[in-house]
Amino acid sequence: MNPREEVLLQAAAELRRPPAAAGAGVIESWDVSVGVDGPGTRFVVFTCGCPLRCLYCHNPETWRMRDGRRVTVDEVMAELEGYRRFISVAGGGVTVSGGEPLLQPGFTAELLRRCHDGGLHTALDTSGFLGDRATDAMLADTDLVLLDIKSSDPDGYRRLTGVCLEPTLRFARRLAELGRPAWVRFVLVPGLTDDPGNVDGLARFAAELGNVERVDVLPFHRMATGKYRRLGLRFPLADVEPPDRALLARVHAQFQAYGVTSV
Ligand code: SF4
Repeated sequence: MNPREEVLLQAAAELRRPPAAAGAGVIESWDVSVGVDGPGTRFVVFTCGCPLRCLYCHNPETWRMRDGRRVTVDEVMAELEGYRRFISVAGGGVTVSGGEPLLQPGFTAELLRRCHDGGLHTALDTSGFLGDRATDAMLADTDLVLLDIKSSDPDGYRRLTGVCLEPTLRFARRLAELGRPAWVRFVLVPGLTDDPGNVDGLARFAAELGNVERVDVLPFHRMATGKYRRLGLRFPLADVEPPDRALLARVHAQFQAYGVTSV
């Protein structure tokens, strides 16, 4: 078995983990961020466990649920209370990210519901691969979905993530049918996701959905290299350069040609 196959096998094992008790979940950490995890200043909860293994992942520490720590929704809400005024005044809210939050749908739904009921703006950052686990009630408590569509090409998507693309596209269409606002996130990696046909395919898909407010074009970077080393893992894209300005400009122009706002 080659190292990639081994990594993908571990990812598949995450799907077989028993769900946490109601009202509890497994997280890696929480943090406050500005401008990258939804509008305004965000209180971000990073859940643990992910069934994907994206070649460019910059959060490999969140991959395995067993590496995280158990918390109750009550504990997260108590921590969040200290930031509530600050994030509300700054036009922000709460983002549940990961890892993959839909690996723990009970915990994620309860957290989103409590925040939403408490008047906070809520966002869910997901690959959409487990979108079928998101109930309509959970999505009603979600003001914004940050949907990571990593490629529009099924073969490229599988090479990049280890899983198939269709569940993500199905989830995207469902969000559109439900009228839930979405920001699509697309990591631009030279030689991997920058093919003009791939970008055009994503731009066309996003334009047709009707609920996509913007596409975030996220330039690939290698800042996670040290994390991989500390975890004893090999960073597969260690030799790939970040995109240059010309490539970024070309990709933004492709989205804009379809009437899609890209930032
Ligand atoms: S979905 Fe996110 S957390 Fe999971 S491997 Fe991909 S980039 Fe990493």
